[in-house]
Amino acid sequence: MKVGVVGTGLVGATAAYALTLRGSCGDLVLVDKDEKRAQAEAQDIAHAAPVSHGTRVTSGGYAALEGCRVVVVAAGANQQPGESRLDLLDKNAAIFRDLVPQVAENAPDAVFIIATNPVDVLTDLATRLAPGHAVLGSGTVLDSARFRHLIAAHAGVDATHVHGYVLGEHGDSEVLAWSTATVAGLPVESFLRARGREWTDEVRADIDAGTRDAAAAIIEGKRATYYGIGAALARIAEAVLNDRRSVLTVSAPTPEYGVSLSLPRIVGARGVEDTLMPSLTPEEERALGASAEVLRKTGERLG
Ligand code: NAD
Repeated sequence: MKVGVVGTGLVGATAAYALTLRGSCGDLVLVDKDEKRAQAEAQDIAHAAPVSHGTRVTSGGYAALEGCRVVVVAAGANQQPGESRLDLLDKNAAIFRDLVPQVAENAPDAVFIIATNPVDVLTDLATRLAPGHAVLGSGTVLDSARFRHLIAAHAGVDATHVHGYVLGEHGDSEVLAWSTATVAGLPVESFLRARGREWTDEVRADIDAGTRDAAAAIIEGKRATYYGIGAALARIAEAVLNDRRSVLTVSAPTPEYGVSLSLPRIVGARGVEDTLMPSLTPEEERALGASAEVLRKTGERLG
């Protein structure tokens, strides 16, 4: 199966590298307005193919996207230190108005996976610019991974045995749904008490801040984040390519809230196959409503 990556900066190139190392697809094509960059990244990543899964990695213009089942969009400006994701809206919306119709025309059967920030508002915009296409945003798949990683580190277990969802905006108003979090099938609190580990408001607040502020901390240290999101994009693409029916907190238009935001969703060949509304505490529900309101107000700026 063929996958396209449009925008081969740090995020797009890392997603392409993750797709290649995981053997997620047979063909991978890289597209960027900076053609030399796309070509150089394709060459570099192609050299990993013979020692991994033999993926054919090439670059080209929009026409090279023909036949793609999935197109990952990671084109656009990234956050600078001190900038929020929402600050990127005007620049990246202008790029999307030019780019999305061209991708839709050249890859008529593709599911779009949007990574560019602010990802929720741009998922809404891409849905309108590519009618008839399935569009989903990487949403809080990365934030849920950060949440799981921090709980696992505190619990002292392998992170694959920790589950828990971050909901709402991929951004400052996101909601860490503690009521959905489990370790080895047990509520976090029960697991930690049984193992004699500390469980206090401070522990919770540290995990909350570590999840919510992860991007800012990484950007402060190395100017951009890309490994976590690269792996998350490959994982979402695999769910579509293999009709996996994976439960992932991707962003998609959500009529109850009038915006695109993240909830646990079943992801398969047609993109979002279904949405699962977790049982939240009243406090979590209020926070999710407030997060949707932030996105609604930001979306209004687009008209
Ligand atoms: P980058 O500056 O390294 O790369 C951006 C690339 O987009 C560049 O190669 C540029 O040439 C290309 N580009 C710009 N306009 C284009 C166009 N019209 N057509 C084709 N290509 C175009 O930035 P990055 O660090 O890779 O970040 C990319 C986006 O991903 C940013 O918006 C960033 O905020 C976002 N991001 C999202 C997540 C997430 O969880 N969704 C995580 C990290 C970064």
